[in-house]
Amino acid sequence: MLYLVPTPIGNLEDITLRALRILKEVDMVLAEDTRTSRKLLDHHGIQARLRAFHAHNEHGVTANLVAAMQGGQSIALISDAGTPGISDPGFLLVRACVQAEVEVVCLPGPTALIPAAVGSGLPCDRFHFEGFLPHKKGRQTRLIFLATLPNTFLLYESPHRLLKCLEQLAEHCGGQRPACVVRELSKVHEQYHRGSLEELITYFRENTDKQRGEIVLVVGGA
Ligand code: SAM
Repeated sequence: MLYLVPTPIGNLEDITLRALRILKEVDMVLAEDTRTSRKLLDHHGIQARLRAFHAHNEHGVTANLVAAMQGGQSIALISDAGTPGISDPGFLLVRACVQAEVEVVCLPGPTALIPAAVGSGLPCDRFHFEGFLPHKKGRQTRLIFLATLPNTFLLYESPHRLLKCLEQLAEHCGGQRPACVVRELSKVHEQYHRGSLEELITYFRENTDKQRGEIVLVVGGA
Protein backbone atom coordinates (compact mmCIF):
# COMPACT_ATOMS: atom_id res chain seq x y z
CA MET A 1 0.00 0.00 0.00
CA LEU A 2 1.23 3.51 -0.83
CA TYR A 3 0.13 6.51 1.23
CA LEU A 4 0.68 10.07 0.00
CA VAL A 5 0.88 12.16 3.13
CA PRO A 6 0.63 15.97 3.01
CA THR A 7 2.89 17.83 5.47
CA PRO A 8 2.78 21.47 6.67
CA ILE A 9 3.63 24.32 4.24
CA GLY A 10 4.78 26.54 7.11
CA ASN A 11 2.81 26.17 10.29
CA LEU A 12 3.78 22.90 12.00
CA GLU A 13 0.28 22.59 13.49
CA ASP A 14 -1.10 21.93 10.01
CA ILE A 15 -0.78 18.17 10.05
CA THR A 16 -3.75 15.86 10.52
CA LEU A 17 -4.11 13.21 13.21
CA ARG A 18 -4.46 10.66 10.44
CA ALA A 19 -1.23 11.81 8.76
CA LEU A 20 0.65 11.38 12.05
CA ARG A 21 -0.84 7.91 12.60
CA ILE A 22 0.03 6.75 9.07
CA LEU A 23 3.61 8.06 9.38
CA LYS A 24 3.95 6.06 12.63
CA GLU A 25 2.44 2.87 11.23
CA VAL A 26 4.12 2.44 7.83
CA ASP A 27 7.23 0.30 7.26
CA MET A 28 9.04 3.10 5.42
CA VAL A 29 8.71 6.83 4.82
CA LEU A 30 10.02 8.23 1.54
CA ALA A 31 11.10 11.86 1.78
CA GLU A 32 12.47 14.44 -0.63
CA ASP A 33 15.03 15.71 1.86
CA THR A 34 15.50 13.29 4.72
CA ARG A 35 17.04 15.97 6.99
CA THR A 36 14.04 18.31 6.57
CA SER A 37 11.59 15.47 7.14
CA ARG A 38 13.52 14.06 10.12
CA LYS A 39 12.94 17.38 11.91
CA LEU A 40 9.18 17.13 11.31
CA LEU A 41 9.06 13.50 12.44
CA ASP A 42 11.20 14.24 15.52
CA HIS A 43 8.87 17.13 16.39
CA HIS A 44 6.03 14.59 16.58
CA GLY A 45 8.09 11.84 18.21
CA ILE A 46 7.89 9.56 15.16
CA GLN A 47 10.79 7.15 14.63
CA ALA A 48 10.21 6.21 11.00
CA ARG A 49 12.56 4.41 8.64
CA LEU A 50 13.36 7.28 6.25
CA ARG A 51 14.57 6.84 2.68
CA ALA A 52 15.35 9.50 0.06
CA PHE A 53 12.94 9.88 -2.85
CA HIS A 54 13.43 12.92 -5.06
CA ALA A 55 13.53 14.15 -8.65
CA HIS A 56 17.08 12.78 -9.11
CA ASN A 57 16.46 9.19 -8.01
CA GLU A 58 12.73 8.55 -8.55
CA HIS A 59 13.24 6.86 -11.94
CA GLY A 60 15.89 4.54 -10.51
CA VAL A 61 14.14 3.42 -7.30
CA THR A 62 10.47 3.23 -8.33
CA ALA A 63 10.51 -0.41 -9.52
CA ASN A 64 12.12 -1.65 -6.26
CA LEU A 65 9.64 0.32 -4.17
CA VAL A 66 6.70 -1.15 -6.06
CA ALA A 67 8.18 -4.63 -5.57
CA ALA A 68 8.50 -3.96 -1.82
CA MET A 69 4.84 -2.93 -1.64
CA GLN A 70 3.80 -6.00 -3.66
CA GLY A 71 5.76 -7.98 -1.06
CA GLY A 72 3.54 -6.58 1.69
CA GLN A 73 5.31 -3.44 2.87
CA SER A 74 3.41 -0.22 3.42
CA ILE A 75 5.11 2.98 2.34
CA ALA A 76 4.32 6.66 2.92
CA LEU A 77 5.56 9.36 0.59
CA ILE A 78 6.05 12.90 1.88
CA SER A 79 7.64 15.94 0.25
CA ASP A 80 9.46 18.87 1.85
CA ALA A 81 6.13 20.68 2.21
CA GLY A 82 2.53 20.27 1.13
CA THR A 83 1.07 17.46 -0.92
CA PRO A 84 3.44 15.08 -2.76
CA GLY A 85 2.80 15.08 -6.51
CA ILE A 86 1.83 18.78 -6.55
CA SER A 87 4.91 20.43 -8.11
CA ASP A 88 6.84 17.75 -6.22
CA PRO A 89 7.81 14.11 -6.90
CA GLY A 90 4.98 11.61 -6.61
CA PHE A 91 3.32 11.11 -9.97
CA LEU A 92 5.80 8.48 -11.25
CA LEU A 93 5.43 6.35 -8.14
CA VAL A 94 1.62 6.63 -8.11
CA ARG A 95 1.44 5.66 -11.79
CA ALA A 96 3.72 2.67 -11.22
CA CYS A 97 1.58 1.55 -8.26
CA VAL A 98 -1.63 1.90 -10.27
CA GLN A 99 -0.09 -0.15 -13.10
CA ALA A 100 1.05 -2.84 -10.63
CA GLU A 101 -2.34 -2.83 -8.86
CA VAL A 102 -0.82 -1.63 -5.58
CA GLU A 103 -3.40 0.31 -3.59
CA VAL A 104 -2.81 4.08 -3.42
CA VAL A 105 -4.30 6.36 -0.76
CA CYS A 106 -3.73 10.12 -0.82
CA LEU A 107 -4.59 11.81 2.46
CA PRO A 108 -6.26 15.23 2.28
CA GLY A 109 -4.13 17.97 3.78
CA PRO A 110 -1.91 21.01 3.30
CA THR A 111 -1.12 22.34 -0.15
CA ALA A 112 -0.40 25.97 -1.10
CA LEU A 113 -2.76 26.23 -4.04
CA ILE A 114 -6.09 25.75 -2.25
CA PRO A 115 -5.79 28.45 0.46
CA ALA A 116 -4.32 30.80 -2.20
CA ALA A 117 -7.26 30.21 -4.57
CA VAL A 118 -9.88 30.60 -1.86
CA GLY A 119 -8.26 33.51 0.03
CA SER A 120 -7.46 35.52 -3.12
CA GLY A 121 -11.05 36.70 -3.45
CA LEU A 122 -10.99 35.80 -7.15
CA PRO A 123 -13.62 33.33 -8.43
CA CYS A 124 -12.61 29.85 -7.30
CA ASP A 125 -15.60 27.78 -8.37
CA ARG A 126 -13.48 26.75 -11.34
CA PHE A 127 -9.74 27.33 -11.67
CA HIS A 128 -6.67 26.16 -13.52
CA PHE A 129 -3.47 25.20 -11.67
CA GLU A 130 -0.37 25.80 -13.78
CA GLY A 131 2.37 25.04 -11.22
CA PHE A 132 5.78 26.52 -12.14
CA LEU A 133 6.15 28.08 -15.59
CA PRO A 134 9.13 26.81 -17.60
CA HIS A 135 12.03 29.27 -17.21
CA LYS A 136 12.91 29.55 -20.88
CA LYS A 137 11.74 27.09 -23.53
CA GLY A 138 7.95 26.88 -23.68
CA ARG A 139 7.33 29.82 -21.33
CA GLN A 140 5.86 32.06 -24.03
CA THR A 141 3.49 29.30 -25.20
CA ARG A 142 2.19 28.79 -21.66
CA LEU A 143 1.71 32.55 -21.15
CA ILE A 144 -0.30 32.81 -24.39
CA PHE A 145 -2.43 29.85 -23.30
CA LEU A 146 -3.00 31.26 -19.77
CA ALA A 147 -4.00 34.70 -21.09
CA THR A 148 -6.98 33.19 -22.95
CA LEU A 149 -8.31 31.06 -20.07
CA PRO A 150 -11.80 32.09 -18.96
CA ASN A 151 -11.16 30.92 -15.38
CA THR A 152 -8.90 32.02 -12.55
CA PHE A 153 -5.43 30.46 -12.83
CA LEU A 154 -2.69 29.83 -10.28
CA LEU A 155 1.09 29.76 -10.64
CA TYR A 156 3.87 28.83 -8.25
CA GLU A 157 6.71 31.33 -8.53
CA SER A 158 10.02 31.96 -6.81
CA PRO A 159 10.42 35.41 -5.18
CA HIS A 160 13.31 36.52 -7.38
CA ARG A 161 11.28 35.91 -10.52
CA LEU A 162 8.06 37.47 -9.20
CA LEU A 163 8.41 40.90 -10.81
CA LYS A 164 9.45 39.51 -14.18
CA CYS A 165 6.53 37.08 -14.06
CA LEU A 166 4.02 39.84 -13.20
CA GLU A 167 5.38 41.96 -16.08
CA GLN A 168 5.07 39.09 -18.55
CA LEU A 169 1.55 38.33 -17.34
CA ALA A 170 0.58 42.00 -17.79
CA GLU A 171 2.03 41.91 -21.30
CA HIS A 172 -0.13 38.91 -22.21
CA CYS A 173 -3.27 39.44 -20.11
CA GLY A 174 -3.33 43.27 -19.97
CA GLY A 175 -2.39 45.40 -16.96
CA GLN A 176 -5.98 45.70 -15.74
CA ARG A 177 -6.41 41.97 -15.11
CA PRO A 178 -7.21 41.36 -11.40
CA ALA A 179 -4.67 39.27 -9.53
CA CYS A 180 -3.37 38.38 -6.10
CA VAL A 181 0.15 37.63 -4.90
CA VAL A 182 -0.11 35.24 -1.96
CA ARG A 183 3.01 35.09 0.20
CA GLU A 184 4.10 32.92 3.09
CA LEU A 185 0.86 31.01 3.64
CA SER A 186 0.37 29.79 7.20
CA LYS A 187 3.58 31.57 8.34
CA VAL A 188 4.08 34.66 10.52
CA HIS A 189 4.33 37.02 7.53
CA GLU A 190 1.42 35.60 5.52
CA GLN A 191 0.11 38.24 3.09
CA TYR A 192 -2.40 38.57 0.27
CA HIS A 193 -1.55 41.48 -2.08
CA ARG A 194 -4.62 42.10 -4.24
CA GLY A 195 -4.94 44.44 -7.21
CA SER A 196 -4.62 44.70 -10.98
CA LEU A 197 -1.43 43.29 -12.48
CA GLU A 198 -0.32 46.90 -13.08
CA GLU A 199 -0.92 47.85 -9.43
CA LEU A 200 0.94 44.78 -8.21
CA ILE A 201 3.92 45.57 -10.46
CA THR A 202 4.10 49.10 -9.03
CA TYR A 203 3.78 47.78 -5.47
CA PHE A 204 6.51 45.13 -5.80
CA ARG A 205 8.83 47.52 -7.67
CA GLU A 206 8.55 49.96 -4.76
CA ASN A 207 8.65 47.32 -2.01
CA THR A 208 11.61 45.14 -2.88
CA ASP A 209 11.59 43.77 0.70
CA LYS A 210 8.28 42.05 -0.18
CA GLN A 211 9.87 40.11 -3.04
CA ARG A 212 10.59 37.37 -0.54
CA GLY A 213 9.28 34.12 0.76
CA GLU A 214 7.16 31.49 -0.92
CA ILE A 215 4.67 32.73 -3.46
CA VAL A 216 1.49 31.68 -5.23
CA LEU A 217 0.25 33.96 -7.97
CA VAL A 218 -3.50 33.98 -8.60
CA VAL A 219 -4.82 35.68 -11.74
CA GLY A 220 -8.44 36.29 -12.73
CA GLY A 221 -9.78 34.73 -15.93
CA ALA A 222 -10.05 36.55 -19.28
N1 SAM B 1 3.85 20.27 -2.80
C1 SAM B 1 3.67 21.67 -2.51
C2 SAM B 1 2.17 21.96 -2.41
O1 SAM B 1 1.40 21.03 -2.21
O2 SAM B 1 1.77 23.13 -2.49
C3 SAM B 1 4.37 22.57 -3.52
C4 SAM B 1 5.86 22.33 -3.60
S1 SAM B 1 6.67 23.40 -4.73
C5 SAM B 1 8.24 22.65 -4.81
C6 SAM B 1 7.04 24.81 -3.74
C7 SAM B 1 6.23 26.03 -4.17
O3 SAM B 1 4.92 25.97 -3.59
C8 SAM B 1 6.81 27.35 -3.67
O4 SAM B 1 7.81 27.83 -4.55
C9 SAM B 1 5.59 28.24 -3.68
O5 SAM B 1 5.28 28.68 -4.98
C10 SAM B 1 4.51 27.26 -3.21
N2 SAM B 1 4.41 27.28 -1.73
C11 SAM B 1 4.80 26.32 -0.87
N3 SAM B 1 4.59 26.69 0.40
C12 SAM B 1 4.06 27.94 0.35
C13 SAM B 1 3.63 28.89 1.32
N4 SAM B 1 3.72 28.62 2.61
N5 SAM B 1 3.12 30.07 0.89
C14 SAM B 1 3.02 30.36 -0.43
N6 SAM B 1 3.42 29.51 -1.40
C15 SAM B 1 3.93 28.32 -1.02
